[in-house]
Amino acid sequence: MPNRSSSSDVVVVGAGAVGLAVGWRAAQRGLRVTVIDRGQRPGTGTSSVAAGMLAPISETLATELPLMRLGLESVKRYPEFVAELTEASGTDTGYLRCGTLLAARDGDEAASLARELELRRSLGLNVRRLLASEARRLEPALAPTLRLALEIADDHAIDPRKLTAALARALTAAGGELRLGAAVRGVNTEHDRVTGVGLADGSSVSAGDVVVAAGPWSSALDGVPAGSRIPIHPIKGQILRLHDPAGPGMLTRVLRMTGGYLVPRGDGRYVLGATMEERGFDTTVTAGGAYDLLRNAFELLPSVTELVIDELSAGLRPATPDNAPAIGPGSTPGLHWAVGHYRHGILLTPMTAELVVGALAGEGAIPDEFAPTRFAGVPAVAA
Ligand SMILES: Cc1cc2nc3c(=O)[nH]c(=O)nc-3n(C[C@H](O)[C@H](O)[C@H](O)COP(=O)(O)OP(=O)(O)OC[C@H]3O[C@@H](n4cnc5c(N)ncnc54)[C@H](O)[C@@H]3O)c2cc1C
Repeated sequence: MPNRSSSSDVVVVGAGAVGLAVGWRAAQRGLRVTVIDRGQRPGTGTSSVAAGMLAPISETLATELPLMRLGLESVKRYPEFVAELTEASGTDTGYLRCGTLLAARDGDEAASLARELELRRSLGLNVRRLLASEARRLEPALAPTLRLALEIADDHAIDPRKLTAALARALTAAGGELRLGAAVRGVNTEHDRVTGVGLADGSSVSAGDVVVAAGPWSSALDGVPAGSRIPIHPIKGQILRLHDPAGPGMLTRVLRMTGGYLVPRGDGRYVLGATMEERGFDTTVTAGGAYDLLRNAFELLPSVTELVIDELSAGLRPATPDNAPAIGPGSTPGLHWAVGHYRHGILLTPMTAELVVGALAGEGAIPDEFAPTRFAGVPAVAA
């Protein structure tokens, strides 16, 4: 068994959007950072599947207001985050300030959209009610069956694959190390304090702090003391990637409808998502999944059938029991978490990195709703 070992100030387990952003921000602070991923390329986990909507207003639920506030803080940071990242990486991130339409197809959906409007207005959020004719003037490809729409001008989108590629470059440009093709077996501890991570090849990386950002697989690491584990379970999502041979323009805003959404990339490519399935770690794609996605979109946007299918894939949203992420230090000294981002990991990337790196530096406080310690005593889900 190899006996190689190396050392860093911080080891980040997982090079998805979240782990890479944490690594980049930590390296910018002058910390010696190693980000480790078992994939041969960065960003091959759930982040490579995500649609990339940055949509805290569209996704507001009356039962999840702290999460909405975290999302609003994160979306506010996006323009500067992207500008800095583009400069640091020399790479485009596919950030598109396109706005979003929520659309209703029938009377029931229109009534439900009217309630959504009231909730958002009561929270002071920027939402505009559009008659079907007004919405069709903005997006002429919408079907005449459209009943009502809400325009959310501040909910945008980014291309998560471009985002992770840019983050990986920025990380190394800032002096961080990106170690790929290396599976982390578990966390090493001594006297109940973290001392680094052990790799599947028998080597280890010692570090004063370890940040777990392993997405839906975060509960599978060995060595995490029982009371510190975070229960994460996967929620499968199937998603289609398509392009318009005629070029861009069929749809210019994100379109959200009951059961799905269509996200334009601005260059004639589109992402049509997504199913929500409880099927463990299964990532097979099915005809039924593709059918559901296309049927939902077709009712509002008949020209979706003219698009060329490039890819049908499935990813695993990393969910916690309360659907909110676990961010920052847990109960084991030196062990930090950036996990459980469920449907919002791309949106929450800038804010998560800021909170985790702030905590590593002993600054700032994590809101109680997102503190990893809230799961003390909850059994972890085996991955
Ligand atoms: C269909 C779908 C659509 C989505 N759409 C959106 C959206 O529009 N907007 C949004 O904000 N969010 C969206 N999400 C959610 C978002 O994708 C996730 O919340 C986010 O990608 C989580 O990022 P992450 O970095 O935590 O995890 P991941 O991207 O999964 O990264 C974790 C990394 O850890 C690595 N890893 C795991 N275990 C180990 C180990 N033991 N050793 C080494 N490496 C390891 C993996 O290889 C992986 O690269 C969507 C998700 C799905 C499935």
